[in-house]
Parts: sequence; C-alpha cells; structure tokens
Amino acid sequence: MQYMKPQDLLYSGKAKSLYTTQEPKLLVMEFRDDTSAFDGEKIEKLDRKGMVNNRFNAFILTKLEKAGILTHFDRLLSNTESLVKRLEMIPIECVIRNIATGSLCKRYGVEDGRELIPPTFEFFLKDDARHDPMINDYHIQSFGWASVEEVAAMKKITGQVNRVLTKLFLSNGMLLVDFKIEFGRFNDQLLLGDEFTPDGCRLWDAKTRKKLDKDRFRAGLGGVVEAYEEVALRIGVDLENPIVA
Ligand code: C5P
Repeated sequence: MQYMKPQDLLYSGKAKSLYTTQEPKLLVMEFRDDTSAFDGEKIEKLDRKGMVNNRFNAFILTKLEKAGILTHFDRLLSNTESLVKRLEMIPIECVIRNIATGSLCKRYGVEDGRELIPPTFEFFLKDDARHDPMINDYHIQSFGWASVEEVAAMKKITGQVNRVLTKLFLSNGMLLVDFKIEFGRFNDQLLLGDEFTPDGCRLWDAKTRKKLDKDRFRAGLGGVVEAYEEVALRIGVDLENPIVA
C-alpha cells in the first residue's frame, strides 16, 4: 500500500488539521492535542489526546461502516493521522439526544438527566461567530445549505448511528447521552465526515453516571484524556501498539 504523505495544509480547525495528499480525492486528517470549548474561548493542549481520538475515531467509523453507514474514513496512517476521502462539507451539525443535558436543559428548562423518548434531533449551523445557532429544515433549504433529500438522509443516518452506538456503549457499561455529527458530499454520495470521539459526544458511566467525555474539560473536572482512554479501552480500541503505515 502506498504511503500517503501529508502535503499542503488545507484547513486547520480547533482540534484537527487537514492536509492534501498526492491523491486529489484523499486527505490526511491529523488529530492534534488541542482541546477547545465555548466556541474556542477555552483552549488547552492535552497530552495524548490526538492519539487517543485518532484511534477512537477509526474504531467507531469502522464499526459504522460494518453496519452499512458510509463514512469518509479510509485507514489509519499513524498514531495521530488518518486517511479520509475529501468531502464537500455541509456546514451543519446534526445532534441527537437520548438523555436531556447541556444546551437542551438551558434552552427549555427540561430536567437534567431525563430520558428522551423518542431521542430529540436538532440541526445547528456551524458558525462559531454566531455561537452555532439552532436551525430547522426550512433554513437549510431556503438558504441552500442542503437539499430536501440530504436533510432527510442526515436525519435518517444520524438515527442509525445512534442505534448502532447506543448498543455498543451500553454493552460496555456506558450511556450514549448525546452526540454531534457532520456530513459531506463525495461525488453523488452523502458520507459521514469529521469525527466521532468523546470531544463531540456525551458518555456517562451507566451505573455511576460519571462523565467520560469533553464535559470534564468544559467543567474543569480534570482527568479528561484518562476518561477518553477508559472509554476507548472499554469498547476495545487498541491504544497500545504503535501504527506503522
Ligand atoms: O452543547 P449541547 O448540549 O448542544 O451539545 C450536544 C452534543 O453535541 C454534545 O455531545 C456536544 O459535545 C456536541 N457538540 C459538539 N460541537 C458543538 C456543539 C455540540 O460536538 N459545536
């Protein structure tokens, strides 16, 4: 297999960077140790987080592929880098919630920890300067961010991801409280892009309800990467063996 070297920096986000490769349709996605919250107001470097999230994301996206969900993931390249398909990203965050917490409770006064049946689905616009406002299907279509078919597909696939991952985490003693995912276009396909890691979801220990996700960082609880590693080990992610591409 040909080694895909990162070439030019295409985009640098708050926690990941994307590089072009010699293959125009493939990018290197690098997970950095940077951790941010509150639209980039709080930023810190957390040792090992890039490696843990890269391995975590690879494991989850591979699981989703096996369940028939199309993603941009191609393969792991190194401890902090993965090869992914180059997508035309849709600037929308799809959030699904199984248990009420976070911004949902702030907005609607719902009791924290309440089970949500059916799970609540929300769209947000990816726009830090505007604090990622919540949007609905009409905004998406009227402003031309995505088509009717894409809106329907994003809702359907987010629900499928929720069902697959709720089972995976629950069978390892954790509650998948909520998560955010993003989609992009590749030729005429809609693919799951970006990442699935504890940076973009909430996971609680099923018995103690201990937080095992980025809320530890947001709330200054400490033990952030340790919690990510605990989740990774519980679901069977290999964090020990170095990757040689
Ligand atoms: O803050 P809120 O309660 O709306 O977050 C819902 C879920 O979406 C959480 O799992 C959070 O980590 C994730 N999220 C994210 N990126 C954002 C906003 C929310 O990953 N910009």
